[in-house]
Amino acid sequence: MSSTNSEERSSKPGDCSVTFADVERAARGLEGIAHRTPVMTSRTADARADARLFFKCENLQRGGAFKFRGAYNAIATLSDEQRRRGVIAYSSGNHAQAVALAGRLQGAAATIVMPKDAPGAKVAATREYGGEIVFYDRYTESREEICAALARERGLTTIPPYDHPQVIAGQGTAALELLRSIGELDVLLVSLGGGGLLAGSALAAKALSPRCRVIGVEPEAANDGQQSFRAGHVIRIPVPRSIADGALTTYLGGHNFPIIRALVEDIVTVSDQMLVDAMRLFAERMKIVVEPTGCLGAAAALSQRHHRPGERVGVLISGGNIDLPRYGELLRDGTGA
Ligand SMILES: *Cc1c(COP(=O)(O)O)cnc(C)c1O
Repeated sequence: MSSTNSEERSSKPGDCSVTFADVERAARGLEGIAHRTPVMTSRTADARADARLFFKCENLQRGGAFKFRGAYNAIATLSDEQRRRGVIAYSSGNHAQAVALAGRLQGAAATIVMPKDAPGAKVAATREYGGEIVFYDRYTESREEICAALARERGLTTIPPYDHPQVIAGQGTAALELLRSIGELDVLLVSLGGGGLLAGSALAAKALSPRCRVIGVEPEAANDGQQSFRAGHVIRIPVPRSIADGALTTYLGGHNFPIIRALVEDIVTVSDQMLVDAMRLFAERMKIVVEPTGCLGAAAALSQRHHRPGERVGVLISGGNIDLPRYGELLRDGTGA
């Protein structure tokens, strides 16, 4: 390393496979294509959190989640030949819809590997966006193997959901937009699954609001990220149970972890009941539909545990895709716990 500057050492730029310049490049590529989602505020939410909250509404993004940003950017940075051959992804959730839509917009046919028992609404949405679906049996088959075999046979390029430099750069554009529109923050609270959104957000925040404390938020039962962050190496956990179905990943990505370790302040957890309480606040007071995973940051803000009174706190609402009957059930009955 050429510098002994302690700040540079603490942020270990050499370990990071993605830089803020990649996030800026992704933002330029998404201009006029991704929605510049609104930033909402609510006096009720502010009073409950004892803070000034700024909600970046990626539940209103194309495809219903921030995942469109990373998928589009990853496909945009492929060669013409790779796009012509097509892309493949495995997901039963928001990444599937994002890859199908981003592929269609860029002339890349998308194949999506999904479990046979995936929710009907998700299968239908992926198909509507033009994705070809290949089903597998999640109890007897490995989606990674199926995906790898199809990629080999058909010459497809795999677009992973989080462990990929251009996916991370794309996900970082939501925080970039938030900070450019409202100015610096004291704290930024971000949903955490495999770490694409958190790593990208941290890159944007460290460049645009250097004193901002970026905090990842996981479901209590899926705290592999928190364990890994504290241990200093990636820890794998068994498949967890939580209503936050977008954050049930069992380990952080190899590209994601070094960025998170270098730039993130802490990783904290919230209970499923706290997610439902946040979902209800969004519905009743702010009139927006947010899926449980999308409520992670808000639940942490409402707990008042991770900021000081009166601070400016950014909250990334990561997605809004949920079957309506399930949504009604959660609002009516809570987690059933
Ligand atoms: C994928 C997803 C997450 C987790 O994102 P990672 O990049 O895997 O950490 C959070 N919220 C929603 C709504 C998602 O779809």
